[in-house]
Amino acid sequence: MNHKRSGEIFEEAKKYIPGGVNSPVRAFRSVGLDPIFIERAEGSRIYDVDGNSYIDYICSWGPLILGHSNKDVLEGIEEAIARGTSYGVPSPVEVEVAKMITEALISVDMVRMVNSGTEATMSAIRLARAYTGRSKIIKFEGCYHGHSDSLLVKAGSGAITFGVPTSPGVPEDTTRHTIICTYNDLESVKRVFEKEGKDIACIIVEPVAGNMGVVAPKEGFLEGLRSICDEYGSVLIFDEVITGFRLSYGGAQEVYNIKPDITCLGKIIGGGLPVGAYGGKREIMELVSPVGPVYQAGTLSGNPLAMTIGYRNLKILKDNREIYIELENKAKRLEEGINNIIKELNIDAHVSRVKGMFCLFLGKGPFENYNDVMKCDTEKYSAFFREMLERGILIPPSQFEAWFLSAEHSDEDIEETLKACREALKVAL
Ligand code: PLP
Repeated sequence: MNHKRSGEIFEEAKKYIPGGVNSPVRAFRSVGLDPIFIERAEGSRIYDVDGNSYIDYICSWGPLILGHSNKDVLEGIEEAIARGTSYGVPSPVEVEVAKMITEALISVDMVRMVNSGTEATMSAIRLARAYTGRSKIIKFEGCYHGHSDSLLVKAGSGAITFGVPTSPGVPEDTTRHTIICTYNDLESVKRVFEKEGKDIACIIVEPVAGNMGVVAPKEGFLEGLRSICDEYGSVLIFDEVITGFRLSYGGAQEVYNIKPDITCLGKIIGGGLPVGAYGGKREIMELVSPVGPVYQAGTLSGNPLAMTIGYRNLKILKDNREIYIELENKAKRLEEGINNIIKELNIDAHVSRVKGMFCLFLGKGPFENYNDVMKCDTEKYSAFFREMLERGILIPPSQFEAWFLSAEHSDEDIEETLKACREALKVAL
């Protein structure tokens, strides 16, 4: 496959943008390649500037559950843009989106829109601290909640890939309030609470971890977190930036029937435009400014263009819930197909799947926490990625990311993916 034009643009990009990219994982460094530059995308496919076409399992890292360039969503952009790009005073569509989110999520009475998942989690932590009057927070090793200082502690995602679990520039004073526990290990949480429970403002967790590959919560784990928080008066925050409107219309909290106190959202609620949100119990949310004293604001928050697209995206999902069954069926077909290949080739690999969310771990299980997934063979994954790309399949350029399916991935796409997978695994492993 020829990537000449991408290479030329990359050389130019590096002069003006650190590493030539605006988010580290896009650099493809972890898989030993230079990035491809994209010209356009439609349905399940993405096309690079050299005219190569790929079946896309990155899907912008999650927002594009309806696939690229969905016609209804695009129409919305044209209509909205004709009315102006931003007002700085409220517009009706913000209310429509907020109403839709509160109706969809069992735990959310009120919601505040922001511009990214990072902003959502950062604001949720501030709110939890204000509500409890406590400083300490618990996060789990391997979970990623964006790049705000207090959460960039042994973070997953791009940070695992580059082997930089904490970042220079984050003061120790900030991170000393962040306690790291082991995902799926309730005892590790209980031990911390027994010692310092009265100082812990909140637990923040990805209800299904999607930033160390896909790791499912063990039975009782999320319930256990809920009851520990209840016992100690701490706030439970579900970071549903990935799982919200992806695992089901009601998110992970609907699937596991657990009510967090605060939920963080992003990705799908913006349909590909920069949107995040945090919401929860009325009693907590009414602490947010201007009703309460907890300051949080945004020049472009609730941007009318982004809200129009978000609204359209959510409305399509709301009116077509069968999309979730179809997504799960597609993920199951990929899971079964890849598992058959794994057996046939007799290799150590495992498809980890929760509903429509999955990834392929190249290693021996179990895969229950960060330590487990870190035993995967990232060299082999890199070779696998390169072989898949060569065959026109774009998967995440990191072992520690979820593959994202969309409503547009067809049976033929899945067949083609499985065929490529068999060849790529043969060569790579
Ligand atoms: N939370 C989770 C679970 C995420 O996966 C991400 C990003 O991938 C974030 C938060 C941060 O979101 P953003 O990249 O929009 O800031």
